[in-house]
Amino acid sequence: MHIVCLLKQVPDTAEVRIDPETNTLIRAGVESILNPYDMVAVEQAVRLREQHGGMVSAVTMGPPQAEAILRDALALGADQVYLLSDRAFAGADTLATSYTLFKAVQKLDGQQAVDLVLCGKQAIDGDTAQTGPGVATRMGCSQLTYCQEVDWVDPKARTIQIKRKLRDGFERLRAGLPALLTAELELATPRRCSLPSLIRSLQAEIPVWDADSMGADRELLGLKGSPTWVQAIFSPQPKEPGPQFQAGEDSSRAVSEALEALFRDEDFAEKLLKH
Ligand SMILES: Cc1cc2nc3c(=O)[nH]c(=O)nc-3n(C[C@H](O)[C@H](O)[C@H](O)COP(=O)(O)OP(=O)(O)OC[C@H]3O[C@@H](n4cnc5c(N)ncnc54)[C@H](O)[C@@H]3O)c2cc1C
Repeated sequence: MHIVCLLKQVPDTAEVRIDPETNTLIRAGVESILNPYDMVAVEQAVRLREQHGGMVSAVTMGPPQAEAILRDALALGADQVYLLSDRAFAGADTLATSYTLFKAVQKLDGQQAVDLVLCGKQAIDGDTAQTGPGVATRMGCSQLTYCQEVDWVDPKARTIQIKRKLRDGFERLRAGLPALLTAELELATPRRCSLPSLIRSLQAEIPVWDADSMGADRELLGLKGSPTWVQAIFSPQPKEPGPQFQAGEDSSRAVSEALEALFRDEDFAEKLLKH
C-alpha cells in the first residue's frame, strides 16, 4: 500500500496569546509543532504499512522551517517526506491549500499508485477542517472524515472500513480505495520514536517541491487562487459567569433558591411562558 499523510506545522496553541490591542496572535517565542491530529494520522499510516506492507509518504506545505515536522514524521516511521515550498504558495486559503496538496498527491501517485491519504481532522490553528475534504474532492475519491478507528483494510479487494464519530454516537463506513481519511485523536496513540529512526530523521535530506515541479497552475495557488479574505479577527468577549448557589449539606435548599432566582428573572419567566 502507498499511504500519503498530509501534515501541517502549527503554533503550539497551549502557548498562544492574543494581543489585546490588535486582536492578532502573538507568535513571538511560540514553539511550532506537528499538528497533533496529523501525528495520529502518521501513527495509523505506519500501523497499516506494518500490517500490509508498502510505503508511507508525508508531505507538508509551508515555509522552509516546516521541514522540522517532516523530520518528526520520519522519526515516527514515515519512509519518505516532501516539503512543498514556493513563494507562490503564500497567502493560501483552504481552497488553494487543498489544490497544492492535491498536486503533490498526484505527483506521488505517478511514482507509485496512492491507496490512502491521511489527514488530521483539523489543524489546531486554522481549525476549518476543510483541507482534507478539499483534497478528496479534487482526487474524486471517498472522504472518510472524523475517523475514530480503522476496522480493516483489504488491499486486494481495494476496500476500507472505518468507525466514524458522530455527535451522539458513531457509524461504520465502507469505501473503495483510493480514499481519504481524516483522523480524530483517538484513532491511534503515537509510539515512542526508536533511536535509529530518530537518527535517520536528523540526517535525512528533505526534498523540496515548488509549483513548477508539480505542474501546478499558478492561478490556483496562494493568494491568487484564494477567494477567501479575512476581514477581521477578534477574540470573543468572555461571558459573565451566572449566579452560583451553594448546595452545602442541603442540596434541595440550593435547588429552591436557584428556582426562585429564575422565576424572579422576568426574561426567564417570559421565555418559559412562550414555551
Ligand atoms: C484569506 C486567507 C489567507 C491566509 N493566508 C495565510 C498565509 O499567508 N500564511 C499561512 O500560513 N496561512 C494562511 N492562511 C491559513 C491557511 O489557509 C490555512 O492554514 C490552510 O488553508 C489550512 O487550513 P486549516 O488550518 O483550517 O486546516 P484544516 O483544514 O483544519 O486542516 C485539516 C488537515 O489538513 C491537512 N493540512 C492543512 N494544511 C496543511 C498544509 N499546509 N500542509 C499539509 N497538510 C495540511 C492536515 O492534515 C490537517 O490536519 C490563510 C487563510 C485565509 C482564509
